[in-house]
Amino acid sequence: MSLRAPCWLTPSWSIYSGSSVNVELLDLLQKATGQSLGMTTLVRFAHTLSFCKLLNHSNSGHVRYCPLCFEEDLKAKKLPYGRLLWELRGVDCCITHGVRLHATSGCWADVGKRLALQERPRAIGVCPDCGSIGRQCEKPVLAKAEASDIVIATCLANVLALSEQECASIDRESVREGVRALVNHQFNGNSNAAADAAGVGRGTMCNWHKNDGTFNFASLAQLSIAGKVDLSRMLKGELFLTEGDVPPQELRRRLGRAYVRSNTTDVDMVRHLKEALEQDETPTLNKVATSLGVSIPALRASAPALAKALVAKNQVAKEAHRGNVYLDAARTYLRTRQALVDSGKTVNQKNLQVHSGLSADLERQGPRYRALQAVIATPEKFELKY
Ligand SMILES: [Zn+2]
Ligand SMILES: [Zn+2]
Repeated sequence: MSLRAPCWLTPSWSIYSGSSVNVELLDLLQKATGQSLGMTTLVRFAHTLSFCKLLNHSNSGHVRYCPLCFEEDLKAKKLPYGRLLWELRGVDCCITHGVRLHATSGCWADVGKRLALQERPRAIGVCPDCGSIGRQCEKPVLAKAEASDIVIATCLANVLALSEQECASIDRESVREGVRALVNHQFNGNSNAAADAAGVGRGTMCNWHKNDGTFNFASLAQLSIAGKVDLSRMLKGELFLTEGDVPPQELRRRLGRAYVRSNTTDVDMVRHLKEALEQDETPTLNKVATSLGVSIPALRASAPALAKALVAKNQVAKEAHRGNVYLDAARTYLRTRQALVDSGKTVNQKNLQVHSGLSADLERQGPRYRALQAVIATPEKFELKY
């Protein structure tokens, strides 16, 4: 490394994708450490698969880990380390121990044990605040993983377990062949039915047959789980049946869209939507989703009727508000118009705006602008009313 120390290298660099910089960095690191590090990254898949929506880059401060894996690392006298699998969106549990991943709640050690800022370690297996190896300063509560958690995590784990040699045999043609075998065998050759069951867009599946880009890994995972087929084999063009039922909306929610890592459950979402509906000034769906740390599609999927009702209520309120703005503006412009007429000044857009103090320039299609135009064009319509 020291021969060609890259100036852009920082202690927090993560290698996932197969960009040229990452490939070079991986090569240098392997030479420097004398270790084969390819299996610790996703670079080995980069020639065929895209992981763009599947990595949890956004919330890097909120580390997730399996406390039992760290315990075992310590017992085996290994440095507890973060698993690549835990970085993938959609993975919420440890399949070795069958427990949900623990989202770090921060350091519980005494304030006196905190490290200075510049000394804080960055390894996932070490508490950055007190330096406890295996994050033993935390007190995680272990919860049993749900069946769908295990199915999704197992599917992705089997793919990450593919060796570099096995990955070399994966290419666009083998993936296409695997998809074709799944659709033929499990969905009687009906690719629309397969797309619907997987919660993937029908167009996405069409593109896989036509285009030459990379395959989106998350969508392939959705398809393989819906078709009960082992994804690691499917990528190699093989058909190998597995067990496990995950409904399409669950697949889409967990793998389909980028959403912030969140512990929000369906029950939470329903409760928040109900509360939002009861408020006088209802928040938008977007606001509710943001406050919960979930995506709008996730919110819609968990409580379709409530989400619809909230959107409808907001729409009504918005129209009422615009109507009020229109009427208020029309009254003001009309009064100004009368004053202009009385003082013998010209009634035009500019004078109306200047003398009323109401500017309507900014929002051309807005209610104020429409009121201004109406007062200029047909003032008699208002004179009758007011
Ligand atoms: Zn574990
Ligand atoms: Zn700590």
